[in-house]
Amino acid sequence: MNKTEATPSTDFIREIIDEDLEVNKNEGRVATRFPPEPNGYLHIGHAKSVCLNFGIAEQYGGTCNLRFDDTDPSGESMEYVESIKSDVRWLGFDWSDRLFYASDYFEQLYQYAVQLIKDGKAYVCSLDPEEIREYRGTLTNPGKDSPYRARSVEENLDLFKRMRAGEFEEGTHVLRAKIDMASPNMNMRDPTIYRIKKIPHYRTGDTWCIYPMYDFTHCLSDSIEGITHSICTLEFENNRPLYDWVLDQLKVYHPQQIEFARLNLSYTVLSKRKLVELVEKGHVTGWDDPRMPTLAGLRRRGYTPEAIQHFCERIGVAKRDSIVDIELLEHCIREDLNQGAPRVMAVLRPLRLVIDNYPEGNVEKLDAPYHPQNPDMGSREVPFSRVLCIERDDFREDPPKKFFRLAPGREVRLRYAYYVTCTEVVKDEQTGEVVEVHCAYDPKTRGGWSPDGRKVKGTIHWVSVAHSLPGEVRLYDRLFQVANPSGEKDRDFMRYLNPNSLETLTSVFVEPSLGGAAPGSRYQFERLGYFCVDPVDSPDTGLVFNRTITLRDSWAKIESKERSREG
Ligand code: ATP
Ligand code: MG
Repeated sequence: MNKTEATPSTDFIREIIDEDLEVNKNEGRVATRFPPEPNGYLHIGHAKSVCLNFGIAEQYGGTCNLRFDDTDPSGESMEYVESIKSDVRWLGFDWSDRLFYASDYFEQLYQYAVQLIKDGKAYVCSLDPEEIREYRGTLTNPGKDSPYRARSVEENLDLFKRMRAGEFEEGTHVLRAKIDMASPNMNMRDPTIYRIKKIPHYRTGDTWCIYPMYDFTHCLSDSIEGITHSICTLEFENNRPLYDWVLDQLKVYHPQQIEFARLNLSYTVLSKRKLVELVEKGHVTGWDDPRMPTLAGLRRRGYTPEAIQHFCERIGVAKRDSIVDIELLEHCIREDLNQGAPRVMAVLRPLRLVIDNYPEGNVEKLDAPYHPQNPDMGSREVPFSRVLCIERDDFREDPPKKFFRLAPGREVRLRYAYYVTCTEVVKDEQTGEVVEVHCAYDPKTRGGWSPDGRKVKGTIHWVSVAHSLPGEVRLYDRLFQVANPSGEKDRDFMRYLNPNSLETLTSVFVEPSLGGAAPGSRYQFERLGYFCVDPVDSPDTGLVFNRTITLRDSWAKIESKERSREG
């Protein structure tokens, strides 16, 4: 399957692959992998890596492995494995039969470590963790050799075997690569490659009490799987010499590590450690809280996989870190839902509207198309009657300039229905709050147009009270109040949490066509935004809708401003 004709926009990684293919490196094979650690749910940053790795495999007719990088038993679990698998699938990618676990390589990795010891390239160090740090030196000062560096091969083999057998406590011994304590690259100063951890592993149980470190595991897992291009984020640039060193010492197949800039997104955090903290401290309802930047959260919020894929395409792949404006992500979902979401009417903050001259008991079924630009989406019947509700915001007793909606004496169009003129306002005697408005309708304006061609400036949406369905709506705002909550190292990102990131409205009226709406289905509530039927709480708790995104698209405005500046 060769999809290169489709030529998606290229980037420096694809250019490297093109050059490799030209010289027939790896016999023309392209093999990538996505290697998450199962210690949390995937977030939108991971989506960038998923789209990149699986996307490259698809484009070049290659393969992409899903590999769980599960060498640190603390915090890893099967729940996370399952969530990651379902998120990758939901995003639209398929690893087929190429599902791997680094933990399946534990024996093989152990044998590689033994090989390094035999070759005099690794030794058991018995400094304690504090001493190891001291001996390591600093960026400006070279480290010094561990007193255990000169241990004989026999002694090292014996100690390493006994480490495996569980004879020693955590922190008493580690296995270190013997490289160069004076290297300007701190990663090369005899890095630890195995440590004792007496924690059961979610897959291997208590078979092991020593676990290989990331730098040792990752390159060898890539090598075992025959990965050609091992794509990772920029933080690992300084680990590349170690990646190469391990593979060179062991003289095994040598994939190429390539680094790219990780995704940072404004108004949120993309670090599993921070996301775990949000979940554990109860600032969100869980990993799938619709305010979370996780794929589970975005999905529950109403995001489509297409919008996320499109977002990942648009941000591209660069070699320099930056923060992507969250409005670009919001723009992508708006664009997608604008095309595909049926339009319906719902009133979030209801105000009763009574049409005094409309016959009591009369009901008309008005035809309302699901999409103004797409007649193929069909239409539904919306019942109209004497008592409706409208949005509180759509009425002002004392309207300011440029307020074109309903006000005393003012005529507006009720969407798909009639022109109505406000004749009376009923207020609560105690509070003075408007509780009901009365109107007169013009029977000649059925469908929303008048035969005399007179114009009304405002069109408002409505729901017939007797026919409506009750619902709950959850309005989400950004989780953080500042663009870069992780920006200040010594300040806790939590202090920037937005206390108003969730508003729940419980007396919402929706049109009857939404009865039985499938969990997860998406709609545009006219004039209000895009909403999705909450897949967790609907239908048990009645109809619950999550607002995916408002209609206002400031990104589109920014873009058109930029275009006009360029043009
Ligand atoms: P976190 O910083 O959230 O803990 P991680 O790198 O520790 O992320 P892994 O499970 O190791 O999480 O990540 C799996 C893959 O996803 C890695 O290849 C990693 O480079 C990539 N990845 C993680 N975060 C991002 C991001 N923000 N942008 C792009 N790729 C990412
Ligand atoms: Mg990681």
